[in-house]
Amino acid sequence: MTTANTATKPLAVDIAIVGGAMAGATLALGLAKLSATLSPATLSRPLRIALIEAHVSNNNHPGFDARSIAIAHGSIFELNRLGIWLKLQHLGTAIENIHVSDRGHFGMTELNAKPLGLDALGQVVELAQVGKVLFEQLAKSSVEVFCPAKVTDLQAQQDGHLLSLDNGTQLHCQLLVAADGANSVVRQHLGQPTEQIDFNQTAIVANVSTDQPHQHWAYERFTQTGPLALLPMRSASTSSAANATKSSSASVQSRFSVVWALPPAQAEQLKHADKAEFLAALQQAFGHRVGNFVDVGQRVSYPLTLSYMPRPIYHRCIFIGNAAQTLHPIAGQGFNLGLRDVVGLLNVLEQAFSTYQLANTSTKVDVGSSAIVHQYLAARQADRDNTLRNIEFLVRGFSNQYWPMVAGRNLGLRLLSWLPPLKRPVAQTAMGWR
Ligand SMILES: Cc1cc2nc3c(=O)[nH]c(=O)nc-3n(C[C@H](O)[C@H](O)[C@H](O)COP(=O)(O)OP(=O)(O)OC[C@H]3O[C@@H](n4cnc5c(N)ncnc54)[C@H](O)[C@@H]3O)c2cc1C
Repeated sequence: MTTANTATKPLAVDIAIVGGAMAGATLALGLAKLSATLSPATLSRPLRIALIEAHVSNNNHPGFDARSIAIAHGSIFELNRLGIWLKLQHLGTAIENIHVSDRGHFGMTELNAKPLGLDALGQVVELAQVGKVLFEQLAKSSVEVFCPAKVTDLQAQQDGHLLSLDNGTQLHCQLLVAADGANSVVRQHLGQPTEQIDFNQTAIVANVSTDQPHQHWAYERFTQTGPLALLPMRSASTSSAANATKSSSASVQSRFSVVWALPPAQAEQLKHADKAEFLAALQQAFGHRVGNFVDVGQRVSYPLTLSYMPRPIYHRCIFIGNAAQTLHPIAGQGFNLGLRDVVGLLNVLEQAFSTYQLANTSTKVDVGSSAIVHQYLAARQADRDNTLRNIEFLVRGFSNQYWPMVAGRNLGLRLLSWLPPLKRPVAQTAMGWR
């Protein structure tokens, strides 16, 4: 990995990605794969790809932190196509069933993998572990990784962008991809607007253990204060590649990752409460469907806002993942949507290279051209808009205690249980099938 560069001339690359967490790192690996599969007739030399990430993979990494996330079935399919899931699969815990309920009301429903002919609806992974694997893969790839290095300045130019890093390096790229998260420095430098909704909620995230095995069930419970999700996890001892060969049933799996959205003051209080008080409050909010909560690890909190760039593009620049939209974790869609941004961009570039090959012209593909940037915008607009609308509806609908709203959502959950064919589209959305 490059950490310093004293050269005065900017290093010329085709694509520079700012931010190397889930979105940026998967895009970099996807681009390296795309470059390797294009024939010399299409690409006279491999694509030069630079990835700039401010933090090394450790416990303080903002993108690869203590969070566990659910990766939907559709996203696993895409990660497989990119050759990435093969390296991550030993870290995953299958979600075979999802139980959805509304605390204190009659509505509840289940989504199950088996009736859909699947082994799993998705997989749960711990981001800290994923980060290590992705960076091992990047180190073996053709991507030029600048880490730790921060982009501190950028200048938009007619033929690309000039990036200045805090280690003195300058890079010139034809296409700039901003994957630098919710507070995107690239977005601020380019003065691009976002729309924001503050839900006045904070999520507490922690790993808990129960006295009953999870049996690969995930839970989403809507409470008066906000949604509470439990994701099944591997026992800590089976989360390594070496242990992955052991039968998973050999150890009792009774760990969950909890994501609990609460009013900020209550979240702050529970974050610092002693273990017994936290576990009692969790038990009270969730009930006994998974037995008793017996232990809790480190608690981390995240303020919950939704931010959204109406047009995630600029001159020779594309915004992906949390830089383009940061979602409420209610439906576990943040990275799933970010990965669809990654795949959308890869598809547009692949299409541009194959069109070039068919046209048999001598004009090279300009990866930052206005045509490519606008094709990306068109390809992503409908999916982004729909996902955002659905999440805002879910957050507002399920936090509301106005009685017609309570009755409506409980009836909705009941209908899903009574009429299994209705579940298929809901399950398909949850699994990231378009
Ligand atoms: C509590 C919680 C639960 C969630 N659960 C789920 C779930 O179940 N399923 C799901 O799909 N999603 C989930 N999400 C969302 C998911 O975690 C995020 O969407 C995803 O991790 C965002 O990745 P990203 O790469 O787009 O951005 P980020 O993770 O924000 O990464 C941005 C990166 O850019 C780097 N950076 C920033 N500025 C600079 C700079 N100037 N120079 C260089 N580097 C820079 C940062 O160091 C960072 O590594 C959850 C989120 C939360 C908060």
